Amino acid sequence: PGSAGFLGQHLVKRLQSFGAEVFVPRQRDYNLTTLDACLRCVLEHPCDILFHAAAYYGGIGINQTQPATLYYSNLVMGANLMEAARLADVKKFVAIGTACSYPGYLEGHLKEDDLWAGPCHASVVNYGLTKKMMAVQAQAYKRQYGLDSIHLILTNLYGPGDSYNPDRSHVVAALVRKWVEAEQAKAPSVEVWGTGKPIREFIYVEDCADAIMLAAELYNDTAMPLNIGTGIGTSIRELTETVHEVSGYKGKIVWDADKPDGAAKKVLDVTRMKQVLDGWS
Ligand code: GDP
Repeated sequence: PGSAGFLGQHLVKRLQSFGAEVFVPRQRDYNLTTLDACLRCVLEHPCDILFHAAAYYGGIGINQTQPATLYYSNLVMGANLMEAARLADVKKFVAIGTACSYPGYLEGHLKEDDLWAGPCHASVVNYGLTKKMMAVQAQAYKRQYGLDSIHLILTNLYGPGDSYNPDRSHVVAALVRKWVEAEQAKAPSVEVWGTGKPIREFIYVEDCADAIMLAAELYNDTAMPLNIGTGIGTSIRELTETVHEVSGYKGKIVWDADKPDGAAKKVLDVTRMKQVLDGWS
């Protein structure tokens, strides 16, 4: 599920290149917010490993405009898919989680042990908390039904297939589009949200797909989520200046401090990932 999405497309390609037989449920055939569709999907297409990469998500903007849709769709998709997976005797459930699940006010890199150490950042709580509930469900399902699963935590992805819709996009795609449009329109300036101070981690989507595939093979601890990332933080200001330099656009950058910054820092600690994935980085 979710294999037709941004990350999913790359994950499918990777799995297929290693000879795996992959089924990609499409939303028009299987509305995964209903248990009925989730069950039909896994019964009609039995699988050993179920990758739940489906999400209704987006950048900081959609978290403000559609918190209820984010909350409802992600919560029920996760709950229903895991229930369907155990009913269909799936061997391993790979849940794709998010760094938005981490406490939003911690300093330093985000460690798996700290997942429950505080509240999510208010700007992303509806997305972050629902994905985090899959980690709770996973432990209950392991105890009661013996379902094996892992919970992988990702940060900001970028690369081919990303959403450039300004209502949905994350910062990398948003800036690329803004700069392209500003250059085409010969605009005198381009506007960037917030103060530029927040620090984020960015991972190329194909690298992320590689790591997920490896983790599905090598990681088995249902009780402990696993971060997947680079561990490298970049400020929004640095990112903006990089986009500005490579674009060749000569206009001005205007910071709109009325727009939200979100969490001050969202960078993963990837120590465990490097151990588990045998040095992959
Ligand atoms: P986040 O990682 O969940 O906060 O999601 P985003 O990728 O949407 O935003 C990351 C940071 O980039 C936030 O501090 C935003 O304020 C900042 N940012 C600056 N300009 C933009 C923009 O045009 N679109 C988005 N989505 N974020 C922007």
